[in-house]
Amino acid sequence: MRKQFLPFSQPSISEEEIAAVADVLRSGWITTGTNTILFEFAFSCYCEANGSVALTSATAGLHLLLTAMDIGPGDEVITPSMTWVSTVNMIVLAGATPVFVDVDGDTLTITPETIEPLLTDKTRLILPVHFAGGAADMDGIHQLARKRGITVVEDAAHAAGTEYKGQKIGSKGTSIFSFHPIKNMTTGEGGMFCSDDEELLQTIRALKFHGLSVDAHDRNQQGRLPQAEVLQPGFKYNMTDIAAVLGLGQLTRLDHFIDKRTRLAERYLEQLSEIEEILPLTTTKETSRHAWHLFIVRLDTEKAKMDRDVFMDMLKQRNIGTGLHFRAVHEQRYYRTTMPQVTGTLPETEWNSNRICSLPLFPSMTMDDVDNVVATIKEVLAA
Ligand SMILES: *Cc1c(COP(=O)(O)O)cnc(C)c1O
Repeated sequence: MRKQFLPFSQPSISEEEIAAVADVLRSGWITTGTNTILFEFAFSCYCEANGSVALTSATAGLHLLLTAMDIGPGDEVITPSMTWVSTVNMIVLAGATPVFVDVDGDTLTITPETIEPLLTDKTRLILPVHFAGGAADMDGIHQLARKRGITVVEDAAHAAGTEYKGQKIGSKGTSIFSFHPIKNMTTGEGGMFCSDDEELLQTIRALKFHGLSVDAHDRNQQGRLPQAEVLQPGFKYNMTDIAAVLGLGQLTRLDHFIDKRTRLAERYLEQLSEIEEILPLTTTKETSRHAWHLFIVRLDTEKAKMDRDVFMDMLKQRNIGTGLHFRAVHEQRYYRTTMPQVTGTLPETEWNSNRICSLPLFPSMTMDDVDNVVATIKEVLAA
């Protein structure tokens, strides 16, 4: 058994990044400012986005989006249940109705085929999730939505660096990224709202900071008048320069992180292919670059004669951490209670929700760590 616990995820922060954060702290300007503007610009360049707005989280981005679109009571938003809870929480808090769509059983992304039967004249928005670093079939989804005038916004929390048909996620349409510490790059907490819709970006920029026409940096540093006006009541979701300078450093290393994640993932795929109880996810054919945010497998509980939770616990006892991305949203207590009719209608989501498990995957892991995880899985399954 390994001596040191192997977490399933761990951020890579360099000494240069720590020094850059310290410099900001000493500079006299620590909230939204030059570093945030630079980070937005650099991120737009990286994913070839028209424009980007830096926020405190991806969840904030979803909140702002729903507010900007004036989505509320009577409106339906199509989203998978196989996602992080924040997406659905924001829809419910806005007073709108989440309509859960089943995922493809092996890529865990939603497809035009699963979405189409759920469209009604109340559908305002479709929120596909790029899963684990693989891309959803966006062309098919856009085609379906365009015909009926429905907006599509991509939950790109897992997809910084993912490419769809040779183009970065974020380069087209509207995408929301997350920089939570487990994601492919981090700002501590943070998110980025990217869009090719200039009007939407302007609205998001105002709504992220009280609904003012300019932010504090503009007022204090750019020689504009301090009497900015509220255009529409807004929130307080602006990224700080402390976070943004960390993001600037992380972004320069993102491709390197993904290369390392890819090598580790390929090793897992090769080694796990001999274990018939372990089923890795597959990737849509449109994904031309997988960002390998997570390495997710399903435990064939029938073959293994073992529960997924027991499997995770046995790995933990052997010093290997795992994650669960995700327990289906509709199976969590609030949603089970308020939307009981959903249970049983999402077979692929439910099958996976009971069997998925994320294995350790982060850039500073070694190939030996992968071999050790696989050996330990074999040991647990034989026990
Ligand atoms: C992490 C995550 C989010 C939320 O990101 P935050 O920055 O933590 O708000 C949203 N959707 C998915 C699929 C995620 O994994």
